[in-house]
Amino acid sequence: ASAFETIAMAPTDPLFGLMAAYRADTFDKKVDLGIGAYRDDNAKPWVLPVVKKAEEIIRNDPSKNHEYLPIAGLASLTSAAAKLVFGDDSAVIREKRVVSYQTISGTGAVHLGALFLAKFFPRPDNQAVYLSKPTWANHHQIFQNVGLPIAEYPYFAKDTCGLDWEGLTSTLQTATPGSIVLLHACAHNPTGVDPTQEQWKAIAEIMKARNLFPFFDTAYQGFASGDLAKDAWAIQYFVEQGFELCVAQSFAKNFGLYGQRAGCFHFVAAPGPHAEDLTKRVGSQLAILTRSEISNPPIYGAKIASTVLNDAQLFAEWKQDLCTMSGRIIAMRTALRDKLVELGTPGNWDHITSQIGMFSFTGLSEPQVLKIREEFHIYMTKNGRISMAGLNTHNVEYVASAIDKVVR
Ligand code: PLP
Repeated sequence: ASAFETIAMAPTDPLFGLMAAYRADTFDKKVDLGIGAYRDDNAKPWVLPVVKKAEEIIRNDPSKNHEYLPIAGLASLTSAAAKLVFGDDSAVIREKRVVSYQTISGTGAVHLGALFLAKFFPRPDNQAVYLSKPTWANHHQIFQNVGLPIAEYPYFAKDTCGLDWEGLTSTLQTATPGSIVLLHACAHNPTGVDPTQEQWKAIAEIMKARNLFPFFDTAYQGFASGDLAKDAWAIQYFVEQGFELCVAQSFAKNFGLYGQRAGCFHFVAAPGPHAEDLTKRVGSQLAILTRSEISNPPIYGAKIASTVLNDAQLFAEWKQDLCTMSGRIIAMRTALRDKLVELGTPGNWDHITSQIGMFSFTGLSEPQVLKIREEFHIYMTKNGRISMAGLNTHNVEYVASAIDKVVR
């Protein structure tokens, strides 16, 4: 008999199951609002023009080869990645209190951070990691895998489809000091709801007062507002406030490099006389964790992102591409909301335009989600989340009228 005789069948990943169901559907007007990947106005994947240029440069580089990268990854990428997220003239870079490791995209960065915290973050009272409720489902699995206990802070207010400010602040105010709090830097997944800058300031104040440790996940910088600095504002504000913190950074969405798995993990030490030395010691431990899991990260996507980030002309073109993507998404938000208003669809739909980034929490219930899938072949996750990138000028009216029919 097998040693695994009693192994249970695990559920399939709901999102990837949804993708498979969409692919199998033969209806000609089917719409995929499930997966979080950018699509152009013809519902096709979009290779950023600047990425094509970078690939050309890499292809023509006579010194190109397939050697291993160092354990910490491509240095020209990790240093540019730190500047991107903390700002060009950030004190953490000047004072050498950031250490950056290239990772397997954002997922790998969250995982490396989780592993590092599980091993080295002091939790004498078995302090938990606080995740927003709801959050990107993988956060739960990743932190569970490294054995950290999980707690939740309320995030989404069903009545307004906005932020549950009261729930969020009262929970953080009573969290055990020394707990870890995972924060989405911008374009919260799955809700599309972000705190305002004033709210971020208040969150920072509470976290400082209660000695809570910030772990930022930034998977959508530049993709949310189209403005790289604006989308990194919360992280930079926390850094200015002197926090010690971690950042998991993905280049999947903002470079359209989903399958290339380019990302970065950053540890920032608080300012102080020993910060540089501490950062070095943290880096030495990250090296061991990385070595034992992936030895060294993949090279191709890293080279693409590095080529763009380190060239002023390409960087400017990338910003244009970011505006193309974020601008199209923002235009689709307006089109969907306007159409629902025009149809007189019951309910308030302002949240569609006040939410930001790839996703919108529509407020549709699970039965409504199933109905819209069965009757209209429109695919979204059971929680009513839609990927705005799945909407385009050819299908937005169809989607609006389907929503109209299922909510009546
Ligand atoms: N974090 C959040 C909040 C996300 O939404 C995603 C992608 O959907 C990721 C991290 C990581 O994605 P990837 O591993 O593709 O970079």
